[in-house]
Order: sequence, then C-alpha cells, then structure tokens
Amino acid sequence: MTTETMTRPVTLILLGPPGAGKGTQARMLEEKFGLVQLSTGDLLRGAVASGSPAGLAAKAVMEAGELVSDEIVLAVLQERLDQPDVAKGVILDGFPRTEGQAEALDGVMAARGAAVDQAISLEVNDEAMVTRVSGRYTCANCGEGYHDEFKRPETDGVCNKCQGTEFSRRADDNAETVRTRLSAYHEQTAPLISYYAKRGVLAKVPAMGEIDEIATKLGDIVSGLQGG
Ligand code: AMP
Repeated sequence: MTTETMTRPVTLILLGPPGAGKGTQARMLEEKFGLVQLSTGDLLRGAVASGSPAGLAAKAVMEAGELVSDEIVLAVLQERLDQPDVAKGVILDGFPRTEGQAEALDGVMAARGAAVDQAISLEVNDEAMVTRVSGRYTCANCGEGYHDEFKRPETDGVCNKCQGTEFSRRADDNAETVRTRLSAYHEQTAPLISYYAKRGVLAKVPAMGEIDEIATKLGDIVSGLQGG
C-alpha cells in the first residue's frame, strides 16, 4: 500500500449508478492518497443499525430504493464533515444525488472555505448493473467486497483478506430494488453530470473494465489535482 502526500485538501465527487464501482474505487483512492471516503449510503446504514431517529426515518425509504430526505442526508453528512480526519480531503460517494443536494453542497463547502474540485462520472451499462448489484456481498469483519459470480472467496466461506467467516448483503441489493435505484439515478442524479460539466470540473471515465485499470485512471486525475 502506498500513501502519496496530497499538497492540499481536495473534494472529489464520484457519480455513477448503483454498481458502477463508486465504493470500490473510493476505497482504493482512500488508501492511495489518504483521502476519506464519505458515503452517505454507509452513514445512513450506520444510522439505521444504531436505531437513531434519522435511521428510523430512513429505513423503509432505503429498502424501497428511493431517496432519503435532504434534511436527513445533510444532517449525517455535516456531522461527518465536522470530524477532524476529513482535513486531507474527501471522496463523496453517493452524494450529491439531486440538484438540490449539489446546491446545498456548494453552500456547505463555501462555508468551509472550499469548493468541489472534481466530479468523476463512472460510465457503465445499466443492464450489467442489475447483475453486479444483485450478486454482491461483503465480509462483515473487514468490508472486503465479493460477488456470487465474479469474485468468490479463494476458500469458500472465508474472507481472503482477514479470514473472517461472516458475510453480509445489503437489504436493498436485490434485482427489483436495483431497478428502482437505477431509475432514481437517471431521473435525479444524472443531471448532475451537466451541472459539474458547466463548471468545468467534470471528467467521464469508462468503468466497465478491470477494477485496477479504472483505479489507475482515477489516480491520475487525483494526482493532477494535487498542485492545482
Ligand atoms: P448507496 O449506498 O449510495 O447505494 O445508497 C443506498 C441508499 O441510501 C439509497 O438507495 C438511498 O435510499 C439512500 N441514500 C444514500 N445517499 C443518499 C443521498 N445523497 N440522498 C438521498 N438518499 C440517499
């Protein structure tokens, strides 16, 4: 694992439908550049697991594959941004998801004397996403990702990375809910591609290929932001 030193904090957004690889790529960038992955989906799943009022309000909406209210999402995001480890910069994964959230993010960033440096759209085919998302699961101990078809553990039932034997699947990773989430993406989130293009901070990266090749392309983009 290499950690390259960033010369200034950056704010990077990963855009793409469910299954595009935002989480996988964000974790790789996190390791390589010391940035912090900030996934509103993970934060909301944490709130659901803890039984907090925000979690209780979000649970059914998430299970249906629809979008949680801006009020709840912004509250969990702000709370996370107030923690000191984000000082090196963040990779936003799953946020913003609507134009309203993008505008709210601009306000949050401006209040912190920062701005969105780069939005990257991971370009994939929808139909492949249904298969990708329906078969995925993770190690309950270390979070390593697996897939029923594409990436099984080397030893059945044992995590390659930490030897854990417990695995979990997201409640919303089933074919029916994935289709609702894909529709939500196209209707509400895809317009953000032109929102960030107009600002001159958008990059489109083809993301149907090998994980490592895609990671190299994203790494080049992030390296390019270092001085700028
Ligand atoms: P994800 O882990 O990004 O696939 O998100 C899982 C679910 O959490 C989504 O289907 C939504 O229900 C909810 N969610 C995550 N991020 C947001 C957001 N920025 N705005 C609204 N809902 C969100």
